[in-house]
Amino acid sequence: MMCSRAPIIEPWCPGSSRSSPPGVLHSRRVPSDCFLGIALIRSGRVAMLHAPLHWMDPPSPVSITCYQRKQNRMPPSDNFDLLILNGRIIDGSGAPWYAGDVGIEAGRISCIGRLSQATAPQIVDAGGSFVTPGLIDIHTHSDLTLLVESGAASTVAQGITTQVIGNCGVSAAPTRGREIYYGPLDPTMTRGLECDWIGLGDYFQRLEAEGVGTNVASLVGHGNIRVAAMGYDDRPPTPAEMNRMKELTAQAMEDGAVGLSSGLAYAPGPYAGLDELIELGRVAGEYGGLYTSHIRNQTEGIAAAVAEVIAVGEEAGITAHVSHMQPGSPRLGGTVDLLNTIDEARRRGVDVSCDAIPYTVGSTTLKSLLPPWACEGGDDALLERLRDAAVRQNIKEDTMTHG
Ligand SMILES: [Zn+2]
Repeated sequence: MMCSRAPIIEPWCPGSSRSSPPGVLHSRRVPSDCFLGIALIRSGRVAMLHAPLHWMDPPSPVSITCYQRKQNRMPPSDNFDLLILNGRIIDGSGAPWYAGDVGIEAGRISCIGRLSQATAPQIVDAGGSFVTPGLIDIHTHSDLTLLVESGAASTVAQGITTQVIGNCGVSAAPTRGREIYYGPLDPTMTRGLECDWIGLGDYFQRLEAEGVGTNVASLVGHGNIRVAAMGYDDRPPTPAEMNRMKELTAQAMEDGAVGLSSGLAYAPGPYAGLDELIELGRVAGEYGGLYTSHIRNQTEGIAAAVAEVIAVGEEAGITAHVSHMQPGSPRLGGTVDLLNTIDEARRRGVDVSCDAIPYTVGSTTLKSLLPPWACEGGDDALLERLRDAAVRQNIKEDTMTHG
């Protein structure tokens, strides 16, 4: 039996005291280790997902025989509790996949190598599937649905064991007096959910108390902060309101947010100017957070919208990220120019990056098509406008022109 490359990872099993279950990855309570998982992916589909695994060391391959056994001065084993055979192993280090088997023993991956002669009460034939650490989804909107479906089955089924929530300016908290800010999200998805939290700290507590199927890290939404400080008003903040927004941002970072996100296409995001975003970005940056943005415009104004994210990064001295940079008509195919702009900023020393959706159209809710002025004052005010035939006509014309 040849056994090599053994990252030291420990599975989490319900009721086990060996390691912790998945939970909230707090920025202010930096764990000494983090929890990942292992996924078995066949023909693009997850065939099996092992319980989240506990990395004891950075997830790099260790090129010595049975690292953990050697570390514990134990002889190589051919008895495991679980064997995953015939896998194509992607170990998360960035190395190309390699063929191999995985042996799990006493709650830990103790060997990766050729283990076909070994025995175990449970043997899984991976049949050439990829065996990988759990995937990290940097952009989800599961903030509220996690409280309805805490197992996160649809996420786990994709091989994901860690997700970043609070994107596009909308997070679970802070709330305005326990009134949820939905932003572009569809409230009907969480019908019946009772909001008993104000800050992110309260929300995290509830999440962990109810149990959650994946690890979770949250950004704090600029939309939440602005609504809590000044409602849905389409105007710049007063100095007192600006201070309040800075306090709320600082509190969210204290509570464990990993950064600030803005949703500049979703009310009240469009009402915020660059100065406001820079000031709040500075606060998040002081805590080591990052700034991500669902930008103001993804069509004809996308170049200026990307430049705005770079400006926040540069002026606030914060790591900045353009979420789902997705040029739409008439800028379809404009990605190369945008990447050049980002490269140029990086050469100047701005820490800026972007991600993309793997298809050519965006995905959002119908409300986001409406002009920002139609959403001023919140949903009740919007419904009032839609009931008025003359205003509705204006909304229609504006949507057809700029939507
Ligand atoms: Zn978005």
